[in-house]
Formats: sequence, C-alpha cells, structure tokens
Amino acid sequence: MTTTNAGERIAFIGLGTMGQPMARRLAEAGHALSLFDIDAAVVQRLAQEFGATAATSPVEAAKGASIVITMLPSSKEVDATILGVAGAPGVPGAPGVLSVLAPGSFVIDMSSSDPMRTRALAETVAKAGSTLVDAPVSGAVRRARDGTLSIMIGGAEASLERLRTVLSAMGTQIFHVGADGAGHAMKALNNYVSAAALVATVEALHVGEKFGIDPAVMTKVFNASTGKNNTTENKVAQFMLSGKYDSGFLLALMAKDVGIAIGLAETLGIDAPMGHVCADLWREAAAGSPRTTDHTEMYHLLRD
Ligand code: NAD
Repeated sequence: MTTTNAGERIAFIGLGTMGQPMARRLAEAGHALSLFDIDAAVVQRLAQEFGATAATSPVEAAKGASIVITMLPSSKEVDATILGVAGAPGVPGAPGVLSVLAPGSFVIDMSSSDPMRTRALAETVAKAGSTLVDAPVSGAVRRARDGTLSIMIGGAEASLERLRTVLSAMGTQIFHVGADGAGHAMKALNNYVSAAALVATVEALHVGEKFGIDPAVMTKVFNASTGKNNTTENKVAQFMLSGKYDSGFLLALMAKDVGIAIGLAETLGIDAPMGHVCADLWREAAAGSPRTTDHTEMYHLLRD
C-alpha cells in the first residue's frame, strides 16, 4: 500500500465555513482539487482562487478523483451526495458519487455525521469496491485556516496511513479512534461535552451576574480555577460578552451534534439523563432561532 500521495486528485464537496479553509489547505499542499457546493457562486470563486476545477454536480467533481472529501452539514446530505437522490415517481433522480468512483478510491467524510448512518454507508461503499473513512474535525474555523485541526478517524488503520499525507494538510492531531463510525461517534460525544459545559457556564454567569458579580471577572476566575473549560477560555469574552456572536459554528449544528450523541446513547441502551436535558435545551433553542444563529448566542437565549 503506497503512502506517498502528494498531488492527489481530490473532489471536495461542501465549501461552507469549514470546507473553504480546509480545501484551501489542500490546494496549498499541491493537490489537484475539483470543487462542488450547492452554492455555485462560492464554487466559481474558490476554483479561481485555488486554481481548481469548478464542478456543477457531485458526480462531475468525483470523476477521475482518487479521494472524495465531504464537509457537509449532516448524514442526510452526505448520503445524498454519495448514494444519489431518488427521483419522484417517473422522474430520474440525481446519481451519487459512488456511480463514478473507480474501485480502490476513498471517500473521507469530514462532516459531523451520525455514526450509525456512517456504518451503513461504509458498508455500501465497500460493496462498490471503495473505502469510506470517517474523519470529523474539531478546532473551529481558526484551526481550519491554520491546518491545525484535530481529526478523529473511524475505519481501518491502513486507510489512515494511506490518507495521512492528505489529512496532515488540514490537521496536526490525528487520532485513530476505532472502526467505521467511531470517528463520528467520538465527534458527537466531544460536542456533547462541549455543549453541556457551555450551558453550565452560561447558567453560572447569569446567576453570578444577578448576584452582582461582573461576568468578565467571573470568566477570569473560572480560567484560573477548576471551572475552566473551552467556553470560559475561548468563547465567553470573545463571542458572548463582546456581543459579536460570530464564532463560525451554527447553533443548529451544535443541536444536531448533541442530538446524535444522545441518539447513540439510546441506541446503545445507555441512560444519559443529563444528556437528554442538554439535547432538549439545544434543540428548542435551534427550533426557535434562524438557521444563521451562532451557537454562542446561547448566552442570551438562555437568559431571555
Ligand atoms: P456550513 O453550513 O457553513 O457549510 C455547509 C456547506 O455545505 C454550505 O456551503 C452548503 O451550501 C453546503 N451544502 C449543503 N448541502 C449540500 C449538498 N447537498 N451538496 C453540496 N453542498 C451542500 O457548515 P460548517 O460550519 O462548514 O460545518 C460543516 C460540517 O462540519 C458540519 O457537519 C459541522 O457540524 C461540522 N463542524 C463545524 C465546525 C465549525 O466550527 N463551523 C467545526 C467542526 C465541525
């Protein structure tokens, strides 16, 4: 199995907040990219910037590629992209990437997808002679720009070694966490912990403020004490107290991730009472907010 694969032909599908900087890192590392997103204007702009090919469908992007990377909102879009979309009765649907992938190719799903759906998709991709690796990321847009994301791999270790050069253009901390779907399970569980800490932090800030303690002072104390967490360190001052609410990670995506984690607990028959409360809070907040709402807006949503 070869491990020298600089200069791969990569189809990159999903060019949103995270996909754009990740694709840029791959272009800068010398890979030949073919780009697709449902936002055609973004595809045209980035193709010009990166010297990449602009595709008008996932299938067009994937033709001739040895690796297809998806960075889409959820399993729903990933399944549709890879497997295709069924048409209405009597109307042909859109074909999926799998219909044009050469045997021996790789699909790397870097989205935060549902691990149970990923397992099923990996099986279908394997039957078609290719390999799906789940490789979700953590670190938000700043680390996507720097190429310092942490990447959680589900699938065979040999697949990780085959893809390491490509993945290293986007992340510096690459973990093999288990078999198919394990990366996505890990990601959902990571975001559950992150989301629960955010809610606890925000609730504590509101209580403290009502008691007369400045939330900025509280944040400094947390960061010097045992309440320190990613929200106190990287979100409260930067995106909440500043009123900017522009971390680049949507509330709807966090709600999806916590829902996946709690769904997994249910599937596995594990009681997670706090997880259910947390998932309800995020789901209700997302349901009552525009899709563009940043997840740090939980600061005022929980108060109001
Ligand atoms: P985003 O909403 O900014 O981008 C999603 C992109 O996918 C958009 O450009 C959209 O046009 C495109 N898209 C949607 N449906 C499509 C389809 N059927 N075909 C082609 N393109 C389609 O989301 P994001 O913040 O970039 O997140 C992408 C994934 O990464 C999500 O699963 C998210 O949970 C995860 N994630 C996000 C962050 C973050 O900080 N934003 C961090 C880690 C992981």
